[in-house]
Amino acid sequence: MQKLFVPVSMRSKLFSYLFLFVIFITVVLWLFQVVFLDDIYTMISVSNLKKVSRSIALTISQDGIDGAEESTFEHASDSSLCVSVYRFIGSSCSEVIHAHGKGICMLHTFSSVSFIQELRDGAEEREVYSRYIFSGGDGSSGSVAVPDRDVASLITAQLAFFGDKEYMVVIEAFVFPVASTVSALRVILIWVSIILILGALFLAWLISRRIAGPVYSITREAGKLKRGDYSLRCSGGGIRELEVLSETLNRASEELSGLDSMQKELIANISHDLRTPLTMITGYSEAMRDIPGEMNAENMNIIIDEAQRLSSLVSDLLDLSKIQSGQLPMKPEVLSLTEVIREVLLREAHFTEHEGYDIQFISDRDVYIFADRVRLLQVVYNLVNNAICYTGDDKRVTVRQSVNGGVVRIEVIDTGEGIPEEKLAFIWDRYYKVSEYHRRGQVGTGLGLNIVKNILIAHGAGFGVSSLVGKGSIFWFEFPVYG
Ligand code: ADP
Repeated sequence: MQKLFVPVSMRSKLFSYLFLFVIFITVVLWLFQVVFLDDIYTMISVSNLKKVSRSIALTISQDGIDGAEESTFEHASDSSLCVSVYRFIGSSCSEVIHAHGKGICMLHTFSSVSFIQELRDGAEEREVYSRYIFSGGDGSSGSVAVPDRDVASLITAQLAFFGDKEYMVVIEAFVFPVASTVSALRVILIWVSIILILGALFLAWLISRRIAGPVYSITREAGKLKRGDYSLRCSGGGIRELEVLSETLNRASEELSGLDSMQKELIANISHDLRTPLTMITGYSEAMRDIPGEMNAENMNIIIDEAQRLSSLVSDLLDLSKIQSGQLPMKPEVLSLTEVIREVLLREAHFTEHEGYDIQFISDRDVYIFADRVRLLQVVYNLVNNAICYTGDDKRVTVRQSVNGGVVRIEVIDTGEGIPEEKLAFIWDRYYKVSEYHRRGQVGTGLGLNIVKNILIAHGAGFGVSSLVGKGSIFWFEFPVYG
C-alpha cells in the first residue's frame, strides 16, 4: 500500500515547530507594537486625561470654581497639561481658570467660539468628549483620529455644575508623534525577529542534540535486531521516557538472544536425538542385509525399539509445539486416578516380568479426579518411566497414592542417584538433562518433564520433586479429589 505521507526527520519537525512559534511571537509583537500601537497609545492617553478631567469636575461641583483653582493648577503642572475652565452664561462663555503645565498650548492658538461650542456639544453628548487638534489644521473631525501630522494635541472636554453655574473643563495634552516611534519600533522588531530566528535555530540544534540524539542512537541500535545482532546497548540520554524505552529494548534483545540460542540448541538436540535411533536402524538393517546370520529376532527387536523411540520422540515434539502455541487441547472428565496409574503400570509390566524390576503401587482406595485422561496418562507414564530409567541397582520403583484434606497426592519414588540440589530447579526446563549419561541405554530427549509440567499447570495441579543424592528421588503431583 502506498504511504499517504512522507515521514519527516525529527530534527526537521522540531525545527519547523520552533520556527512556527517564532513566527507567531513575531506576528504578535508586530501587531501590538506597530499595527495597534496608535490605538493603544490613544486609549491610554484618553483614559489618563479623563481621570484628571473627572477629578477637576468633581472638585468644581463640590467646592465651586474658587475651591477648584488650586487643584487645577496642581494637575496641570504634575501631568504637564494645559487646563482651561470655561464658564457659560447663556450662549456667552468666558475662561475662568487657565493653567499651563506645558510649553505649547494649541488650545488657545486654535480656540474659537465655534470650537468651544463643538467641545460643549460633545461634552453634552457624552460625559468626557475627546478629540485631536493638529498644528497644521483645525482637526475638523470630532472623533479621535490617529495624528499623522507633525504636532498633535489631545483635547478632552467635560461639563461641571456648581449650583446653577455651568462650567466646562478642557484639558490638552501633547501627543508624541507616533509615526516616528513606529518606524523606530519597526527597526527594533526586525532585529528582534532576526535574533528570535537565530535563537530558534540554536534551540532546535540544542533540542535535537539532547532529544533527537538519543532517539537516533536507539533507532540505530534497534536496527541491529533486524540483522539478527542482539548486542544492543541502548541509552535514553537521561530522558525518563527514552530510558524506559531503552531498558525495554535492551531486555527484549537479551530475551531474543536467549530464545535464539535456545532455538539453535533445540535444533541441535532434535537433530542429535533423531540421528541416534536412525543410525542404529540403518546400521542394524545394513548388517542384516549384508552379513549372513545377522537376520535374527534380536536385531529385529533393536530396530523395532529404535523405531518406537523415534516415534515417541516425534510425538513428544508435537506435544511440545502444541504446548508452546497454547494449542494443547484439554478434555477434562471425572476419572479414576487410581485406575490411570494401574493402566500405566500394566503397560510397564514387561519390566517386572522380564527385567527384574520391582514396581509397587500403594493405594488404599480408588480416588476420582477431574482431568484429561490422555494427558494424565502421559504425566504418570513419564514419571514412572523416568523412575524406571534412573532408579538404583535394586530396580525398585514405588508409586504411592495418599489422600489428605480433599487432596490426592501421587508420589513416584525411585532409589537412584538422585539429583543435585542446584540442578533441581532446572529439570522441568525443556531439553534439560542432568547429565548426558542415560541409564539403561534409554534415549532421553529432555522433553518429558517439561511436558509433564505444562500438563499439570494446565490442570492447575500442584507438583514438585525432592531428591537426595545417593538415595533417590520423589516426583509428586496433587489433584483435588472429586466428589
Ligand atoms: P529425559 O528424556 O532426558 O529423561 P526428562 O525431561 O524426563 O528428559 O528429564 C530431564 C532430566 O531430569 C533427565 O535428563 C534426568 O537427568 C533428570 N531426571 C528425570 N527424572 C529423574 C529421576 N527419577 N532421577 C534422576 N534424575 C532424573
